[in-house]
Amino acid sequence: MTKRFIPLATPLLTGNEKAYVVDCIESSWISSCGKYVEKFERAFADFCGVRHAVSCSSGTAALHVALLALGVGPGDEVIVPTLTFVSTANAVTYCGARPRFVDIEPDTWTLDPGRVEAKITARTKAIVPVHLYGYVANMDDITEIARRHNLFVVEDAAEAHGAEFRDRRVGSLSDVAAFSFYGNKIIACGEGGMMATDSERLARYMAQLRGQGVDSKKRYWFPIVGYNYRMPNLTAAVGLAQLERIDWHLNRRREVASWYTDSLRDVPGIAWQVPKDGRGNVDWLFTITLSEPIRVTRDDVIDRLSQHGVETRPVFHPMHTLPPYREMGQEDGEFPVAEQVARSGLSLPTWAGLQREDVVYVCDALRECIGDARSASACDLKDARSSQNRSTF
Ligand SMILES: *Cc1c(COP(=O)(O)O)cnc(C)c1O
Repeated sequence: MTKRFIPLATPLLTGNEKAYVVDCIESSWISSCGKYVEKFERAFADFCGVRHAVSCSSGTAALHVALLALGVGPGDEVIVPTLTFVSTANAVTYCGARPRFVDIEPDTWTLDPGRVEAKITARTKAIVPVHLYGYVANMDDITEIARRHNLFVVEDAAEAHGAEFRDRRVGSLSDVAAFSFYGNKIIACGEGGMMATDSERLARYMAQLRGQGVDSKKRYWFPIVGYNYRMPNLTAAVGLAQLERIDWHLNRRREVASWYTDSLRDVPGIAWQVPKDGRGNVDWLFTITLSEPIRVTRDDVIDRLSQHGVETRPVFHPMHTLPPYREMGQEDGEFPVAEQVARSGLSLPTWAGLQREDVVYVCDALRECIGDARSASACDLKDARSSQNRSTF
């Protein structure tokens, strides 16, 4: 096949992004005051189905401020899944608290509620489920455990804008939810984050923490130590334009994921996340695991795919294997499911601009790399559009 380059992720800025950014520049409102910040916050709260959304500079900042606002501090413990992006654990550490790691469910790869209670101590303050790669955590059981033990719940929804749990969107399923708009996320504005909550008190406090701690009534009066975690108007302008078209982004991603599942369904040894009972996932990064009878290692597959011009990436290293968290991870026991997924998993290109022939190319390359002789186009994608892109191995 003719070699091409297919990136893992690319933001598509095809709506009002440019017009809104030009408006910021022409009006000179480029910093964190300005109409786009407020509009983006209002529209995002409505999208999630919550009363308040507070913007900030990143998803990491959103997690940090959410935990601070709930009173997480030195000496406290916070339950997090070990399989996540490092921000989830780091935000706990920034508060002076200690993350307690828990293994994941085998099908959804999200926090396993059945293993949470064993990690709860007198110091536990909160649980942070992560909707990993767009798959929703078991919020029924997590909420129930939190209620029983009087704990807060903070959703890490950085990878799951628009995902649903029993007809409610993520962001509305906990005390506070944190979102990210980093360049590779479901919608993107460069760097940016959002905290969603129904509580007016928390929303006010989080806005204060994000804005240096300034008093909302007395100018230049700082009753608490806050942070400069504000989102610029320029950034919110891009975010608002992305949000206006989020249904299109989600639908396109859904289509891309369905091409992958159609094409890879019958390949022995390839598996992916499966949503459970009432949980409606979105498609952030289509991520597969490799097992018997595939004998090529995950890292070899990544290398071989990159020789075909296909950019992929390994599943996150579990938190309990990273140097800052290794020691505490050892005290937290064993994590067989997360380790298995982390060892064997890789994410395939997933973004709204991919065409069917791109996915055929990726799947053909993948089959070749793992020694599966059949071509994806020949055996699965019966009506793939461009026949010249079909390959025969
Ligand atoms: C991206 C991500 C974050 C952090 O978001 P940033 O905007 O990059 O700070 C947090 N948690 C998860 C699960 C993420 O994927």
